[in-house]
Amino acid sequence: MKILVLNCGSSSLKYQLFAMEQEQVLAKGLVEKIGLADAIITHKTGDGQKIVNQTAIPDHAKAIELVLAALTDKNHGVISSMKEIDAVGHRTVHGGTTYAKSVLIDDKVVAELKRLIKLAPLHNPPGILGIEACEKIMPGVPMVAVFDTSFHQTMPAKSYIYGIPYEYYEKYGVRRYGFHGTSHRFVAQRMAELLGKPFDDCKIITCHLGNGSSIAAIENGKVVDTSMGFTPLEGLMMGTRCGNIDPAIIPFLMEEETMDIPAINAMMNKKSGLLGISGISSDMRDIEQAAAQGNERAQLALDIFHHNVIKTVGGYIALMNGVDGIAFTAGIGENGPATRKLVCEQFAYAGLQFDAAANQCRGKEVEISKPGSKIRAFVVPTDEELMIARDTKALASK
Ligand code: AMP
Repeated sequence: MKILVLNCGSSSLKYQLFAMEQEQVLAKGLVEKIGLADAIITHKTGDGQKIVNQTAIPDHAKAIELVLAALTDKNHGVISSMKEIDAVGHRTVHGGTTYAKSVLIDDKVVAELKRLIKLAPLHNPPGILGIEACEKIMPGVPMVAVFDTSFHQTMPAKSYIYGIPYEYYEKYGVRRYGFHGTSHRFVAQRMAELLGKPFDDCKIITCHLGNGSSIAAIENGKVVDTSMGFTPLEGLMMGTRCGNIDPAIIPFLMEEETMDIPAINAMMNKKSGLLGISGISSDMRDIEQAAAQGNERAQLALDIFHHNVIKTVGGYIALMNGVDGIAFTAGIGENGPATRKLVCEQFAYAGLQFDAAANQCRGKEVEISKPGSKIRAFVVPTDEELMIARDTKALASK
């Protein structure tokens, strides 16, 4: 069975084609600058060939046509015709409270995704464009929507209701949804395997630390809390996002700086976090380098990031009354030994025996706690696309 996974952004589209028998990636790629005359498609085959093409790509439909052309190309294609694609999995950001699981897409689902645009005005529209374009180009091929929010739908109300008048939850669905759910689910399920315990019988904390960062507490297979909220702005301080701040800062700055809503939103989403504090970069590698060279603001940004992660992990250990394993994933989690060391060493008191030598690794699955450690810690590379492909296979085969 061959499954195409699509992840549509407003001006970009990432894709991977899987052969599901061995869960093997046959080809993958990225279309950038959709809507512009100098759009770029970068296509990589499983055997390492890379083809880059620059051309005008007016919309997502044209982008998908080019992806299919690359996949079926005589010279570097990996399938002979698009008829070989059995199903398409779409990464979808927001499923609201409607979708606690991935779903086979039909007209009703598309209508519901459109209704949910108000909860994710930046993220859901490109996903819908991708779905509609595929429907046009590949009619009849089963499609599945896999949501960033659905894994977190198991949270109890005490985790997702905010301390504001209840009517806003009822009227507008203002509540914690949580994001990165596909990654947290993939990593947590793998963690259970590594711990040698059934998924529904362990306590796991997954730290997805990348440009966007979130942490989830998973008890007996269910998310009990997660750090992102109504939007992906809440929780940890991130590359350019502020994470938790006193909400009263917002009206204060709007008044003092005469900022309007787009300006305050841009400040919190694009000018804050590591970038806002250091004034240098949103990229952890730049921050670590500048801090090592004695830049105090970069060091402060680094300290705040670690402080946030430790506070959240510690809170979740308390919430679950213990933890069996802590997983680190995404760009910083997989490649940043310094962050993992600072976080893990903080939980020595709770029984985490950190293995500093094992921690000197990047981008691969490794246990970073010592044998016999009461709390175990692992680096678990995430694979959201594979998770989407697995869900798509399961639903499309029904
Ligand atoms: P992601 O959003 O998952 O792609 O992660 C991007 C983040 O991972 C950026 O802040 C990168 O600086 C960070 N990252 C990538 N490689 C490293 C590394 N070797 N050490 C520390 N951070 C890294």
